[in-house]
Amino acid sequence: MSRGRLHVRVAAPAGGSPGAGGDDPGEPSVEFLVTCEHGGNRVPARYSALFRGRERLLATHRGYDPGALAMARTLAQALRATLVVSTVSRLLVELNRSPGRQFLFSPVMRNAAAAVRDEVCRRYYVPYRTEVEAIIARAVNAGRRVVHVSSHSFAPVLAGSMRSADVGLLYDPLRSGERELCHRWQAALRARAPQWSTRRNYPYLGRSDGFTTWLRQRFPERCYLGIELEINQKHVRDRRTVPIAARNAVAAALRDALGR
Ligand SMILES: [Zn+2]
Repeated sequence: MSRGRLHVRVAAPAGGSPGAGGDDPGEPSVEFLVTCEHGGNRVPARYSALFRGRERLLATHRGYDPGALAMARTLAQALRATLVVSTVSRLLVELNRSPGRQFLFSPVMRNAAAAVRDEVCRRYYVPYRTEVEAIIARAVNAGRRVVHVSSHSFAPVLAGSMRSADVGLLYDPLRSGERELCHRWQAALRARAPQWSTRRNYPYLGRSDGFTTWLRQRFPERCYLGIELEINQKHVRDRRTVPIAARNAVAAALRDALGR
């Protein structure tokens, strides 16, 4: 399998500098990275037998994050960010879990032979995570600070309970840069879309296991900010996208928060 089929980079910083960089020479310049770990529910043909009869499950939020891919593209465009996405179903391998953690593999894959799971890791999990880490490492080694937004969506009702927010911003409260950026993003979104409720560290905690949590262990606060954006799937149309006006509001609010 070629790496290009796994994930596509549709936007790269033009002209070397993606922007940022304060006028203050002491301030590191900023590079933006947008990722989408749950962008699709594709099952590659060589594993399709494992998913026979699971088509309905694949079509649910357990198969992918409806709307998250389009949101990621809009954000990447607005920020002129590097974009890395996966459209392989999370039921094949969960890219947003750390190695060795529970739920790396879904119940469907737990029934597969260990050799098949290892192969799936080699083909999909390792290349995706390695590429994202390498992008951040390159920027950091060049003296830049990376602001990473990982685009997700959440089911409006889970285990019988209704989730109240329209947007969730997940971060590590112990990292002041992430905390302050999310406060500003929340305030800006309230101003731009007052009908929407935005909550911080909801419906999940930013410090729970996830890709950004893993990356925080590798890159210190001064050079890496990792935020997970969660959009309520009740806003998703045709199981694919949140309307463009709403996506633009989320992206514009982030730009407001970043002062650009
Ligand atoms: Zn997700």
